[in-house]
Order: sequence, then C-alpha cells, then structure tokens
Amino acid sequence: MAFLQPLIFAIVTLTVFFLAFKKYRVIYANINLGKDEKIAGDSGTRFKNMMLLAFGQKKMFRNLTPAILHGFIYVAFLFTQIELIEIFIDGFTGIHRFFWYVLPLGGFYTALISFIEILSVLAFVGTIAFLARRNLLKVPRFHMDEMTGWPKLDGNLILFFELILLVGIFSMNTADMALADGKYGFAISGMLYPLIDGLGDTTLHIIERFGWWIHILMVFGFILYLPASKHLHIMLAFPNAYYGPLDGGANKGEIANMPRITEEIKLMMDPSAPMPEEDPNAEPERFGAKDVTDLSWKSLLDAYSCTECGRCSSACPANQTGKLLSPRKIMMDTRDRLEEKGAGLREHGADHDDGKSLFDYISTEELRACTTCNACVEECPVSINPVNIIMELRRYMILEESNSTEEWNLMFNNVETNGAVWKMPASDRTSWINELEAEAEAEDA
Ligand code: SF4
Ligand code: SF4
Repeated sequence: MAFLQPLIFAIVTLTVFFLAFKKYRVIYANINLGKDEKIAGDSGTRFKNMMLLAFGQKKMFRNLTPAILHGFIYVAFLFTQIELIEIFIDGFTGIHRFFWYVLPLGGFYTALISFIEILSVLAFVGTIAFLARRNLLKVPRFHMDEMTGWPKLDGNLILFFELILLVGIFSMNTADMALADGKYGFAISGMLYPLIDGLGDTTLHIIERFGWWIHILMVFGFILYLPASKHLHIMLAFPNAYYGPLDGGANKGEIANMPRITEEIKLMMDPSAPMPEEDPNAEPERFGAKDVTDLSWKSLLDAYSCTECGRCSSACPANQTGKLLSPRKIMMDTRDRLEEKGAGLREHGADHDDGKSLFDYISTEELRACTTCNACVEECPVSINPVNIIMELRRYMILEESNSTEEWNLMFNNVETNGAVWKMPASDRTSWINELEAEAEAEDA
C-alpha cells in the first residue's frame, strides 16, 4: 500500500496542472486578442525595472506600515516555496521530509524550516492586519462602488486561504516534532509541540497528514483559483512591469499620437507634403477603441495584472472630487469585458459579434472626467496605465461618434482654426502685451 499515496498525489497533481494549463491558456489567448503594440526600450533596463517593481515591490514602500505587512506575506510566500518543493518531492516519492532524510542538509535544514516558520508567524500577523483593514477599518479605497460582490469576497478569500495554509504548515511541523521527540529542532513548532506531545502516535500521524494534505490542497486550490482572481497579479506583475513605462524615461506619461491623425495634420500644415500611400482594399481604420479588441495587448495585460488595490483611484483628482471616474474600475471593467468577449469568440467563432462593447461597462461620464494627469500611472505598484484605455475610448467617442461636449467642440474648432484652444487668431495672442504697455504709458503721462 506504500505506493497508494504517491499514486493519488500524482493523479491529483496532474489533474490540477492540466486544468490550470487550460485556464492560463485562455488568459494568454484573451491577451492576444489585443492589437499589436511595439514596446520601446532596451531589455536590460526593462529587466531592472521588473526586478525593482515586481520582485522588489519598490512602489509599495511609499507607505511604510502596509509595505512592511505586505513584505511579511510576500517574503514568507517566497521562502515557503522551498518547503513546497519538498512537499512535492515527498508526494511523488512517498518519503516524508526528503531534504532531511535523503539529502545531507542537517542543521541547514533546521535553520531553513525555522526561518520559514518565523516568516509564517509574521505572515499570520500581516494577514490578520489586512483582514482587519479591509473589514473593520473602513479604508475608503476598499469600499468604493466597484468593490462589492465578488471583488470584495475575492480580497477576503485569499487572506482566509493564507490562514488555512499557515494552519497546515504548523499542524504538520508540530506533529512531526512531537513524533520525533523534537529532533528536527524547528523554532516555532519546537515551542508548540509540547502541547500535543501526550497524544498517541496514531493521532499525531493523522495531524501530520492533515497538515500535509491541507498545505498541498490549498496550493492546488490556489493554482486553480488564481486565474479567476485579482491575485493573478502574483504572476503577471512580472511581464507587466517588464513591458511597463520605464521610470525616469523621457516618455513617461506621454500620450501616443494617432498616426493617421498626425498625417492629416501634417498635410493641413503643409499641403505640398506627399500624400500617404493607402491600400484601396483595406478596411477603414477605426479611430480609438470601441471594444477590448481595439485596445493593445499591453492594455489587456494591464487589465489582467490589476491587484484592485485602489491606489490609483485614491490618487485620482477626478475621483477625489466626487466624479464617477475610478481608474481601478476602468481596469476591472476591461478585464470583465475581455473575459466575456473571449468566451463568446471561442464558443461562436472569430466573427462572432455579441452586440456589446466596452461602452456597456464604462460610461461616457467616467471617460470625460479624466484630466490625463497620470497620477494613477504614477501610483500603480505594478506598472498599469489606465490612461491608455481611457484615451482610446475617448478617441472613439469623439472621432467616431461625435460624442463630445459643447465646450470641447468649441476648443477643437479653435485648435483647428487658430492653432490654440482660445477663440482668437494666433496673430492676436500677444495683444495683451500691447494693451498693458498702452495702459502703462497712459498712467505715466
Ligand atoms: S489620469 Fe485620469 S484616471 Fe488617472 S488619476 Fe488622472 S484623472 Fe484620474
Ligand atoms: S491599476 Fe494599479 S493602482 Fe489601480 S487598482 Fe490596479 S494595481 Fe492598484
């Protein structure tokens, strides 16, 4: 019967990885529904950016207390992977504590697991603090309109998963310490095991197996849960930071021009400029974005990478002054619409039109409220740019649907006819200087 557990473990593992592969493939396919976008910048700088932002969590340190608490959970998560590797090896080989009994790690193993246990206690503190912050402290960004229903549950669920995982780790280690009369020398479970030392070996084995299976089942559950959760950012933050705007770069915050419009303006300024070549059979180009498939793949990757932390919305001047706009909601809506659109295309074929668009999720009022100040981009810990999506939707609204306000239309007309936002010819722009000089002369006279 010794082969039974490795066999069950192998079947469960393969099933989980197969199901996870299918889910992650869908996400990859959805991101590829976006339009092509060439990302400039050398790979060395991008790699450094990724290590600082995604691995080093650089932007988290703007606010020290949550940064430290988040750091506890993050570092514990990283180091627990070592114990997880051992659990996988144990699962496949049937040898419990492979690193202790098969590899000659000895004291190093004790130190390593002790370190993981200490980190796990700190992660426990961080998790409880974050649960309290979400549910008791009423931090405004966790209670905006978009944070009800699934997003609220999702934020809490992962913290409960974390607690159950920690229970699993300590059940296993403490029971192991009791079974081996403390020979492993682990730091925290070394203090806990006298509490259960009097239980019989059978009960201790059951507790140890319970902890082991709880640990691995939570990990499997997490792998399957991740694609439906905001916690997908644990993985996607890395490519997103790699392809994100480069800190200190000259183009930070720059809004990309529309090549077609640029050509038109050049022709307007210089009618002798050569006409751009056009393919008579090409479909007319759509200005801006009506739906997710009109956005670039990077904007779609952004949508899947959003942690729903709300730092962008907290910093957004439009949101702060009571406008409907919340950049976090823009990202959540884009992801939700992308999931819907992708599912429809997979089910009904590439030409399927469900009669809906991103405008069924995001309103004109939200889009008009953006000042393009880029505060949301600056704040985002995982290099997301909500402004790109807002601008593309706004371009569609204005250029394709003529959906803009009277004041904006007036401004557009002025730019077109006067080369400036004011209703006066360019030649009159310095008239105020002449007027001031005339007034000064009149006073002196
Ligand atoms: S760029 Fe727009 S969405 Fe972003 S913070 Fe400024 S106003 Fe808000
Ligand atoms: S866009 Fe960035 S800052 Fe805004 S909620 Fe998502 S992860 Fe947080």
